[in-house]
Amino acid sequence: MSDNTTTRERKHFIEEIIEEDIATGKHDGRVLTRFPPEPNGYLHIGHAKSICLNFGVAQTYGGKTNLRFDDTNPTKEKTEYVDSIKRDVQWLGFEWDGEAKYASDYFGQLYEFAKKLIRDGKAYIDDSTAEEIAEMKGTPTRAGTPSPYYSRTVEENLDLFERMKAGEFPDGAKVLRAKIDMASPNMHMRDPVIYRIKHAHHHRTGDAWCIYPMYDFAHGQSDSIEKITHSICTLEFENHRPLYDWCIENLEIFPSKQYEFARLNVNYTITSKRKLLKLVEDGHVTAWDDPRMPTISGMRRRGYSPASIRNFCDKIGVARRENVIDVSLLEFCVREDLNKIASRVMAVLNPVKVVITNYPEGQLEQLEIGNNPEDENAGTRQVPFSREIYIERDDFMENPPKKFFRLGIGRNVRLKGAYILHCEGVKKNAEGEVEEIYCTYYTDSKSGQDTSGVRAKGTLHWVSVPHAVEAEVRLYDRLFLDESPAGHEDKEYTDFINPNSLKVLDTVYCEPHLKDAQVGTYYQFLRKGYFVLDTDSSEEKLVFNRTVTLRDGWAKKGKKK
Ligand code: ATP
Ligand code: MG
Repeated sequence: MSDNTTTRERKHFIEEIIEEDIATGKHDGRVLTRFPPEPNGYLHIGHAKSICLNFGVAQTYGGKTNLRFDDTNPTKEKTEYVDSIKRDVQWLGFEWDGEAKYASDYFGQLYEFAKKLIRDGKAYIDDSTAEEIAEMKGTPTRAGTPSPYYSRTVEENLDLFERMKAGEFPDGAKVLRAKIDMASPNMHMRDPVIYRIKHAHHHRTGDAWCIYPMYDFAHGQSDSIEKITHSICTLEFENHRPLYDWCIENLEIFPSKQYEFARLNVNYTITSKRKLLKLVEDGHVTAWDDPRMPTISGMRRRGYSPASIRNFCDKIGVARRENVIDVSLLEFCVREDLNKIASRVMAVLNPVKVVITNYPEGQLEQLEIGNNPEDENAGTRQVPFSREIYIERDDFMENPPKKFFRLGIGRNVRLKGAYILHCEGVKKNAEGEVEEIYCTYYTDSKSGQDTSGVRAKGTLHWVSVPHAVEAEVRLYDRLFLDESPAGHEDKEYTDFINPNSLKVLDTVYCEPHLKDAQVGTYYQFLRKGYFVLDTDSSEEKLVFNRTVTLRDGWAKKGKKK
């Protein structure tokens, strides 16, 4: 996929590093990056940034990108997550090199690496408990103390490690630690644990292993096994880099290099798999792909296009400084792309019936209406017109103010692609609510061939009553009411959930064209926003999601204050 929509002029620092490496002939100019998710949840907008960065730089410099599952923590990982991650990366428009890879593919190799460290006198088995190890680690200002097991012989360590692998010991009874420096100012270098016992079923290796490498002993080595040239990760791993380098150096393996960038934070949004999982588990949303979720699958279901997410990631750039991006920038990118690609159609969300009294009963006209004024190749479609139509209830006012350019008694309005109407009167029900609106039409005012000379200031969307297709429409608002839901010490992020984040309209009337709507087709419902068919849709019931409104409603709200 080539991204020719890039608007950026300046290179970011990772690109500068890569260019320098290519210029100096490092790795013979080869570029191989990787995207390394842990399959313990669905990917979110933050991961999209990492995906766009890793695959993006490889594309720019003629390189490749691996997809590698960092699956060293068997209790939290699932095949469901693996599948969703693959789907999401592909949907974003990227292709990984060869087969997907797994850290678990390297368990055998990693075990051998660990034995090499032991043989070289650089690792030992520690029987201390997790608490004792934490206590012995000291603090950043106080050096740690050596473990009482520090001086075990190589033979004893090898024997114990093999017996750990053979399943002789219960969870937590022993760990393997690298022998580095208990006085290091970097806590990660104070004899870090590199293997632990965990009698747990792994989603891929089953019960073959009961010892598992720690992140720091799996990640860098996996990079190295795959000969990754640029291992790009978020800033929280900066402190892990010395250990990353130590392992590579002491194992004498391919010298992958780690580079850190600032993670993406978005206001009004949670970007943590653990916190998103809780939203699903506690029923605050229906699933990982609930259209209100900032997950890639949620955004897809909501109707965000892959290009809009890629453009967003491109616009926010890559830097080493932490910042928070305004969620309205993401919505802006969505509108910008959908405006180009969405088919314009008509649907009436809150219908009221209009009877055109001088239009012959039983007459039907097929009107030809353009699909997208922004795209000359989008063509036209036929929309049926008849004596009875639906319009939006709020497009009518009995006694409208002067500036109301929609329908009012005695006023004219144009119907999109059809005729100009003149409103004659209304019928109300016992509650005083308008039940039907009566209009006449100017017979010579047909769109495109209007010779009536009649003026109408506004244009309304409409749907012919006998041809209308009923649908449910789901309107979304932000899931959180607070800009920084996870940023409060005295409150939980779940305290800020917007109780009105979902509004369901159960009787929406759509033009018949939408009967054949497909999941994945982008629509603009004229004047109402961008919509897509939801995956809950069935033969019996059409369900549409509103992706975004046509304009940023929140910006307006902000100004009013
Ligand atoms: P989470 O905090 O949601 O659990 P994680 O970092 O644990 O995320 P991983 O599966 O380990 O999730 O992430 C895979 C890659 O995505 C890592 O390289 C990580 O640095 C990157 N990543 C995760 N969150 C963000 C973010 N908010 N912005 C940019 N990159 C991210
Ligand atoms: Mg992680």
